[in-house]
Amino acid sequence: VIRMDGVQKWYDSFQVLKNINLEVHKGERIVICGPSGSGKSTLIRCINQLEKHQQGTITVNGITLDSHHRHLDQVRREVGMVFQQFNLFPHLTVLQNCMLAPMKVRGTSKAEAEAIAMKYLERVRIPDQAHKHPGQLSGGQQQRVAIARSLCMNPKVMLFDEPTSALDPEMVKEVLDTMIGLAEDGMTMLCVTHEMGFAKSVADRVIFMDRGEIVEEASPAEFFTNPKSERTRNFLGQIL
Ligand code: ATP
Ligand code: MG
Repeated sequence: VIRMDGVQKWYDSFQVLKNINLEVHKGERIVICGPSGSGKSTLIRCINQLEKHQQGTITVNGITLDSHHRHLDQVRREVGMVFQQFNLFPHLTVLQNCMLAPMKVRGTSKAEAEAIAMKYLERVRIPDQAHKHPGQLSGGQQQRVAIARSLCMNPKVMLFDEPTSALDPEMVKEVLDTMIGLAEDGMTMLCVTHEMGFAKSVADRVIFMDRGEIVEEASPAEFFTNPKSERTRNFLGQIL
C-alpha cells in the first residue's frame, strides 16, 4: 500500500530524512518509535504530503508522488491521519465533523454521509455523542471521533502520530482499544507511538528511527528481546 524509495528531506541545510526505504503491505501494522526529533512525524507526514520531500519517491496505493507533488489530492483521499492533538473542527458537531470530508471530497449525499458517520461513531463506541461539539468531550472521546472521522473516508491506510500522548492516562486505553479493534479488522496501519505494549501485541514490525534514519526494523519479538543496534538498545533502556 505504501512504498518509500530513497526519500530525503531537508529543512534548509538540516537533513531530517536520510534515504528512507520502507514498504507497508496491505493489512500490515507497523509501529515507528525513536527519540524526539528523529523524524518520525516528518516521515508519516510526507506520506500524505503534509510535508514535502525533496528526493526519492513515495507510492501510495499505486499512485506515485515524486518531488513534483502531483496527484496529491488523490493520495490524501486514500490515507487517513490521526494526530496527537485531535484536530477536530471546534465549531462543528461530532456528526458534522465526520460528514464533512465524504460530502466535500467524495460528493457523498448528506443522508449517506450521516449514515456512514453514525456507523463509524458506533464502531468507536460514541454514537451518543454525535450532536455534541468537540469541546464538550473528553480527550479520549475526541480522539475516537478523530479516528471515526478518518474512517468515514474509507482509507486504504491509517497513519497515527502519537495518538495517545496528549491524553490523560485513564483515557489512553480506550483509544488503544479502538486502534486494536481496527487492527483486528485488517486495517493497514502505520503508527508512531511509544506505547510499547501496543507495539508488542499489535505490530507486525517495529521500526526504530534516529537522526533521520531507519536504524532498525524487526518483528516485535526480535526488537524488544534482541535489538541489533547500540542506538536501539540505548533508546529501549530509557523508555522501558
Ligand atoms: P517527536 O518525538 O518530538 O514528535 P519526531 O521524531 O516526530 O519528534 P519531527 O517532528 O519529525 O521529529 O522532527 C524532526 C526534526 O526536524 C527535528 O529536529 C525538528 O526540530 C525538525 N523540524 C521539524 N519541523 C521543522 C520545520 N518546519 N522547520 C525546521 N525544522 C523542523
Ligand atoms: Mg513527532
